[in-house]
Amino acid sequence: MEDNIKISTLNDFIFCPRSIYFHNLYSSYDEHLYQSSYQTRGKNAHKNIDSKRYCSKKEILEGIDVFSEEFGLIGKIDLFNIKNKTLVERKNKIKTIYEGYYLQVYAQFYCLLEMGYQVKIIKLYSISDNKNYYIDLPGDSEKNRLFEVINEMKKFSLEDPFRQNQNKCNMCIYRNLCDYDE
Ligand code: SF4
Repeated sequence: MEDNIKISTLNDFIFCPRSIYFHNLYSSYDEHLYQSSYQTRGKNAHKNIDSKRYCSKKEILEGIDVFSEEFGLIGKIDLFNIKNKTLVERKNKIKTIYEGYYLQVYAQFYCLLEMGYQVKIIKLYSISDNKNYYIDLPGDSEKNRLFEVINEMKKFSLEDPFRQNQNKCNMCIYRNLCDYDE
């Protein structure tokens, strides 16, 4: 696997390590070929941010590229308000805050720090029901966990022993491509 880890793949890896292979393999293909309608709705939720149309206020950074040399991470943030130092990650609908969501915002947090920004507040925003979920700033154990997952991702091989979770396979956007799904 390449040296730098994409922030967007952290959540996939936590969901299923094998999905990271398909994420990278098919990232250059037309997403409609394999994405479910659920995933497409999530993507559309980010459209305004990716095309920088969400807000024109100067203190809001939208969809900017971020990186961290320390972690070997690259990616984008949804929104960062420089004035109130608030980092926001939007999801189409949040029912559960999965570990992958935490790792994603921690990764963004550390990238912003390394780039010279101060972050005081992190929140996840659930668009469809207009709910905010405030996330505590990461401490040592969260930082170590992020390092641990990144290292696992760098070492991961499709040949590694793997225990399938059919419930996850049923929800997986790569199930038509993966030989584990029946
Ligand atoms: S279909 Fe199942 S095993 Fe394959 S990537 Fe998806 S969750 Fe993982």
